[in-house]
Amino acid sequence: PKIRPAPVIRQLDEAAINRIAAGEVVERPASAVKELVENAIDAGATRIEIDYADGGKRLIRVTDDGCGIAGDDLPLALSRHATSKIDGSDLLEISTFGFRGEALPSLGAVGRLTITSRCGDAAASITVTGGRAEAVRPAALSRGTRVELRDLFHATPARLKFLRTDRAEAQAIAETVKRLALAEPFVAFTLTDLSGDSPRTVFRADAQSGDLFDALHGRTAQVLGRDFAANAIPLDAEREGHHLTGYAALPTYSRGSSVQQFLFVNGRPVQDRLLIGALRAAYMDVLSRDRHPAAVLFIDCAPRLVDVNVHPAKSQVRFRDGGSVRGLIVSGLRHALAGAGHRASSTVAG
Ligand code: ADP
Ligand code: MG
Repeated sequence: PKIRPAPVIRQLDEAAINRIAAGEVVERPASAVKELVENAIDAGATRIEIDYADGGKRLIRVTDDGCGIAGDDLPLALSRHATSKIDGSDLLEISTFGFRGEALPSLGAVGRLTITSRCGDAAASITVTGGRAEAVRPAALSRGTRVELRDLFHATPARLKFLRTDRAEAQAIAETVKRLALAEPFVAFTLTDLSGDSPRTVFRADAQSGDLFDALHGRTAQVLGRDFAANAIPLDAEREGHHLTGYAALPTYSRGSSVQQFLFVNGRPVQDRLLIGALRAAYMDVLSRDRHPAAVLFIDCAPRLVDVNVHPAKSQVRFRDGGSVRGLIVSGLRHALAGAGHRASSTVAG
């Protein structure tokens, strides 16, 4: 028998590790937009501008007026598992969107990434291409941070091939921005398509004011439109430590697709199977199979009742008591819908 030499085990270099991990964090342009906008929100931004070209394949640019990054810290921000948001001692009480320190190194591994940021009275920038960073340079920027991602997946044609049309990718970007806009009603958002000869505003939401209820009320109308607003019922229900708020549209307002379903867990947009299934089940008796309910659902609970750290993109969560959450949604929505019909027009609109 042939004796095979033992294979050599080697530690991968950081660039290779980032490329591998990027596969999980950055699936498509919309995932890059999600990471960058979340970073802007975490930085305390009050205005966030998102620009893209060719469905985000050629360019994604996110500009914020948040706290900025010190020039000396730029290389660190690009290195793996480096974060300013947690110190690792408590993975339960996380109040920011980010905490894994993976987005920027992943984006730098799959495209050409330039971060320009101002902290105090100095601005600096750094560029990383295919995982290789250049030196930090002085730059000009009046405040906050601007992150530019060019030529996403150019070095990985196999990935590029899996992307959909520019139009479909642009739509996914818009949905991502709308989700985050609902999660943060006090922040102003502008989404602009730079593909054509002149910039085109795709979505815009002014900062809301007042208390959270009023702000969410106004933001819901901005994101889902007056038509949804006029047909939606406010929700407020509780079960075993889980609280459900938001708006559910009357069955007559149902859609042919699921694009008007916005789900949040402790303020984080999620696309969780359990929640989507519960929403569907709540409308089961009042909606035909080819129709999709429209709703904005916020589930809030103590951090120990849910794990958000299930997947790098954090779009899936795991509840300790999934049955209870499902029950809350199904009964909360059915109850609201049952008593609705006649008083629906007096809700979000106005
Ligand atoms: P995470 O968000 O999980 O911490 P990232 O890779 O997304 O990891 O970002 C790394 C670090 O870079 C953040 O912890 C933060 O300190 C800094 N950072 C990233 N984006 C911004 C921004 N827009 N404004 C200020 N700081 C930022
Ligand atoms: Mg982040």
